[in-house]
Amino acid sequence: LASSLLANYCSELYDDQAHKVDKYLQCLQLSDETLMDVSMRFRREMDKGLCRDTNPAAAVKMLPTFVRSTPDGTEQGEFLALDLGGSNFRVLLVKVMADGMQKVEMESQIYAIPEHIMRGSGSELFDHVVDCLANFVDKMGIKDKKLPLGFTFSFPCQQTKLDESVLLSWTKGFRSSGVEGKDVVSLLRKSIKKRGDFDIDIVAVVNDTVGTMMTCGYDDQHCEIGLIVGTGTNACYMEQMRNIELLDGDEGRMCVNTEWGAFGDDGALEDLRTDIDREIDAGSLNPGKQLFEKMISGMYLGELVRLILVKMAREQLLFQGKTTPDLLTTGRFSTSYIYSIENDNNEEGLTSAEKVLRGLSLDPSVEDCIATRRVCQIVSTRAAHLCAASLAAVLRQIRDNKAAEKLRSTIGVDGSVYKNHPEFPRRLNKMLRRLVPDCDVRFLLSQDGSGKGSAMVTAVAYRLAAQHAE
Ligand code: BGC
Ligand code: MG
Repeated sequence: LASSLLANYCSELYDDQAHKVDKYLQCLQLSDETLMDVSMRFRREMDKGLCRDTNPAAAVKMLPTFVRSTPDGTEQGEFLALDLGGSNFRVLLVKVMADGMQKVEMESQIYAIPEHIMRGSGSELFDHVVDCLANFVDKMGIKDKKLPLGFTFSFPCQQTKLDESVLLSWTKGFRSSGVEGKDVVSLLRKSIKKRGDFDIDIVAVVNDTVGTMMTCGYDDQHCEIGLIVGTGTNACYMEQMRNIELLDGDEGRMCVNTEWGAFGDDGALEDLRTDIDREIDAGSLNPGKQLFEKMISGMYLGELVRLILVKMAREQLLFQGKTTPDLLTTGRFSTSYIYSIENDNNEEGLTSAEKVLRGLSLDPSVEDCIATRRVCQIVSTRAAHLCAASLAAVLRQIRDNKAAEKLRSTIGVDGSVYKNHPEFPRRLNKMLRRLVPDCDVRFLLSQDGSGKGSAMVTAVAYRLAAQHAE
């Protein structure tokens, strides 16, 4: 097919197919006007979450993180970090050097979390996490050091202080029993005690967005937003204490974890959600929850594409009306396929589409490949644009807080979709500029931010504690 593809390729064919898909998927293509409206709605949701009276019923929880300051470069020491809730579970050893060069060194190890442990009992999960931690400190030869540890735990948590964090609900692929409503630091300490062969000083629990913001904040003082577009999606930002009604005190700022993945859980996005979105939700581990996330993040994009391909095939619009058991299998269309199919080189993208479709035991025509590429583009563009809409609301909030006419801000960003999708960053950036033309925004890709960040938070906490002790 590849050679016939080259021979046959002509823009007319391409346009025809693209047009057919565009028409079919009109409801997934959001106009600037609609996105602006989504942005305003999200801004109202932020308000609802921040205000004491409306918070209990708010879908977007706007959780205080007890992180008040970003690193100032004088932090130092050796810290451990756990990173749980992204595409990998990792243990890290982070050395922060205060030599004026703001140097950070790091060793890390990825460990697997088998699916039965993600969906088993909570004690099994935490015992497993602690076993991996024990293996790591053993390997590093630091078992007797009792190092301070930061725990990046990338789920919605109600915090009362830096080292107490109650899980509100699991998201993404996790559903371990007996953890919701519990303090994850206590659970971790319990499992460490049970092993009894090493000790650790757990100092901070940090959301991955916060870790990402903190890591980037180390390099760029303007960084006041953390964004994740990976397995899940979320953002945090530095909010004025006076606006966080749930906490006493009006001085200074605190990082707020928006948990924007839950935007729409109260019905606020019903007019934009499609049959496909409802189908994804119905088949998920957490129906009715994280509805915004399910339109955006890596855990769902591939499945969205697969469901559309099935629907189009059934309506005789693709694959000569044929489906295969592979195509009909949940999860069989990996989000990483989208990355290769949307290769910015048209031919390579179409060749990837052919490979992927053949891998699903289909026998695609050139037209099918072109159409599939278009489906991927539409699904991932909607994701980027929805992200831009919520991000624009966060930027406007920060700008209003500062009473600034033109805001200059840096967004620390991490996550598999942002890092691996060839077009996602550009589309997000472009739409953001259209939605908030008066903001000068810089995206800073964080290197290992989510994990390293909890070590940074721990380092800052240590510096502040040392200053208070003086
Ligand atoms: C979680 C957030 C997290 C995001 C990105 C969401 O499912 O609720 O806490 O920041 O995923 O990992
Ligand atoms: Mg992560």
